Formats: sequence, structure tokens, C-alpha cells
Amino acid sequence: MAWAALWQWLSPPGGSKASASQTPPSSCPICGGILHLLDCLDLNRACEDMKGKVLPACGIPIAYYLCEDCGHCHAPEMAGWSKQRFAEAVYNLDYARVDPDYVQVRPLANATLIAALLDQAGVSLSHLDYGGGSGLLSARLRELGRQSSTLDPYLDDGDGLPVDAQFDLVTAFEVFEHVPDVSALVADLARYTRAEGVVLFSTLLNDGQVLPGHRLDWWYAAPRNGHITLFSAQSLGRALARGGFTLTSLNAGLHLAWKSRPAWLTPALLAQIKNSW
Ligand SMILES: [Zn+2]
Repeated sequence: MAWAALWQWLSPPGGSKASASQTPPSSCPICGGILHLLDCLDLNRACEDMKGKVLPACGIPIAYYLCEDCGHCHAPEMAGWSKQRFAEAVYNLDYARVDPDYVQVRPLANATLIAALLDQAGVSLSHLDYGGGSGLLSARLRELGRQSSTLDPYLDDGDGLPVDAQFDLVTAFEVFEHVPDVSALVADLARYTRAEGVVLFSTLLNDGQVLPGHRLDWWYAAPRNGHITLFSAQSLGRALARGGFTLTSLNAGLHLAWKSRPAWLTPALLAQIKNSW
């Protein structure tokens, strides 16, 4: 059943399509389609809850909306928070409790995999880790003898990079689901990725997990982790197209995007990336 038809079937006759405590957003930020209130989650809902409740409920509701056209799901009110509010309520000293791997385990594991990717490419590639937090991933790559730069727009504005810096390989792990402004993210990636460069990034697609008329009980929908943007395959592809990118999803959580596919990204290298992450 098409998205629009499904929504029509679910909506009560004459009923409003959205009713939240705050003013509902007017349209989907990706495609301009009609949004429907899907669910409200407690701010303390975290990914780690699937292993047992990490934090008690705090009573702050976070509304998630779903686009009937492209399946994009997001939390618009939270996306409008200031950096200060995010720092106080989400990216605070307790953040490691809701995402224990973000401090060391994930950056170091990704650095090892990227080092292998760079070795297999057959040509010298420049690398930027976008949204790299403390910069541990890039630091580890440099320890391993590879070139790597890091930039996290949440923490800085790229002052350390040349104005016209562009890279062959841009990685963005655990970034897309956190961004409040998808357009700004895609514009940034387009800016920093060479015409024949590649963006390698992670985010779990919501297809089959987020459904109209169902509660938002997907473990990945976790405001306490800062997961405010939950892409469908369609919304992710449409968002990246704005930056001139073509999307290739290797699986539900790992993706590549390029403006023009580089010669070094051979089918064998693609297969290696797919099999190693
Ligand atoms: Zn949409």
C-alpha cells in the first residue's frame, strides 16, 4: 500500500492529522510532504534500553513526526534546541551511559577498518572524519601512519581546515541520525567531498521499523542518544541528492554516497567494505 493511501486509511474522518502539545511542523524537511504525529517518547528513552532500562523516565515528551510521502521520521521540536540545551540534556557527562562505545571502542574499531580500506584502494587517498567528536578516529589513523583530518561541526566550525579543503574519502559515523538540520549536513558533505570522492557513513534506515499507525517502539528511536532524525531509504536518497550525491546502501546501516564514482572504488573494494563493517 502506498504511504498516502495508508495514511488516508488510518486517519479518522474529519480528524486532525496531528495533535501535539507544541505547534506541529508544517511539512517534511526532506520532501515537503505532509507530516503526521507518530508518537511521543520520554527524553530519557535510550538505545541501551533494549538491554534494560538505563535511565528513569524524566517526563519530558519528545514528539516524532512521520512524512506520509517519503517515510522520513524526525523530532522537529528537539531539532530546534540550542547547542547549549543539547549539551545540558543530551551530550552531557551521562552520555557515555547511553552510548558506552562512543568514547573509544567505536572510533578505534573504525580506524582499523579505514586503515585497511585506505591500503586496499591502491592510490593515496585523503581522509576526513566528519562529526568525529574528540578526533580519536583520525588520531588513531595518524598513529597508524595514515593521513587523516577531523571536523565536528557540533564542536567547531572547521577553522583548522583550509577554506577549500576537499577529501577523497569522508567518513561520518553516528552522525546522520543526530543532525537537526539535514540540509546543512548534506551541504557540508558536498563541500568537503571531492567531485570524485566518496562519503562512507552509518545510520540505520527506518524502513519496516517505523510504520504509520504503530507506536514508535524501535530501539534506535532514542532521544536520549540524540537520535532525532530517522531516515527511510527514500528520504536519505532524496536528502543526499540535494548535494549532488548518489546513494548506495551496503546494508540497512552502512552507506556510500558519491557525486561521481571514483575509479579506485572498485567492486572488490566495495565488497570488502560491505564485509568488514
Ligand atoms: Zn518527506
